[in-house]
Amino acid sequence: MKILAIESSCDETAAAVTEGREVLSNIVATQIAEHKIYGGVVPEIASRRHTEAISAVADEALKAANIGYNDIDAVTFAPGLIGALLVGVNFAKGLAMALNKPLIPVHHLRSHIAANYISHSELKPPFLCLLVSGGNTVLAEVTDYTKFKIIGETQDDAAGECLDKAARCLGLSYPGGVNLDKTATVADTGKYPLPHPHVSTGEFDFSFSGLKTAVMNLVNNTSQKGGEIDVPVLCATVRQRVCDMLISATLAAAEKTGFKTIAVAGGVSANSELRARLKAECEKRGLTLYYPELKYCGDNAAMVGVQAYYEFKDGNTAGAELNAAATMPINYR
Ligand code: AMP
Ligand code: MG
Repeated sequence: MKILAIESSCDETAAAVTEGREVLSNIVATQIAEHKIYGGVVPEIASRRHTEAISAVADEALKAANIGYNDIDAVTFAPGLIGALLVGVNFAKGLAMALNKPLIPVHHLRSHIAANYISHSELKPPFLCLLVSGGNTVLAEVTDYTKFKIIGETQDDAAGECLDKAARCLGLSYPGGVNLDKTATVADTGKYPLPHPHVSTGEFDFSFSGLKTAVMNLVNNTSQKGGEIDVPVLCATVRQRVCDMLISATLAAAEKTGFKTIAVAGGVSANSELRARLKAECEKRGLTLYYPELKYCGDNAAMVGVQAYYEFKDGNTAGAELNAAATMPINYR
């Protein structure tokens, strides 16, 4: 069963052909260069670029997979930028209806988790997943390929949002989280007294907005006094605080729930400190840890196709009524 998967939730127009967990082609047309001049994604521009690129990107995915026809279409329908999602959803609906093929709606965060299935053939539920992206930070039990139990989540900003905004106020270019990671080249994190956020809502919940605000205040106050920020040190300090929070909650959740397997997913799973420290901590505790390959950490359609395979097996298909949604919990169904 060959799936043509479409992804347009943010600033990458992507299409892929997959079969089970196998990736036959994976095409990503990124809009980063255009959004960079604004310091972040401009939703209206994102929608327009998706509209321009989507037919050619889907065509290229079919050509690269060396097939002229696929059996099923799949599309990211939520969560994400609504105007951007709508481009993919309407394109996929049109295609499926015109060619009389089934259409599989795929939840974006589920597909980020599925990025792990591509490279790790032995990985299967149940496992614990730390989902860290630009818009969401969630700890979930993946009890089956399409069944999720949220056991912790951010009470305000996502980890990626905190890293992106900290990077922006330090003058680093978009995408901020990536550039903050590259700039944090020093180990010294004692210089700036950034908070170690604590959350009282739940044992495995997160909070990143206080840290984000503290960085902004520190940068503004220093500049008002005519001082200079040591950018590599501040980047390293923010990254460390974010990793502290993510790692301690994940390990505590693993201990409490008894899961021996942990997967990390979402754009922030590309973070070098998070990958290295969590790996070391898991090795110490005899836990098995999985990350997606770096090329599947960011938005792509290969992960959408792989998750779609499991959604289809679970009977999750859509018709002309399918709509996009800006927000949607991972356990929506
Ligand atoms: P997503 O929302 O899952 O598509 O991922 C995008 C988010 O991942 C953005 O907030 C990026 O800044 C962040 N990101 C990507 N690479 C890295 C990295 N190496 N370190 C930290 N954050 C990253
Ligand atoms: Mg994403």
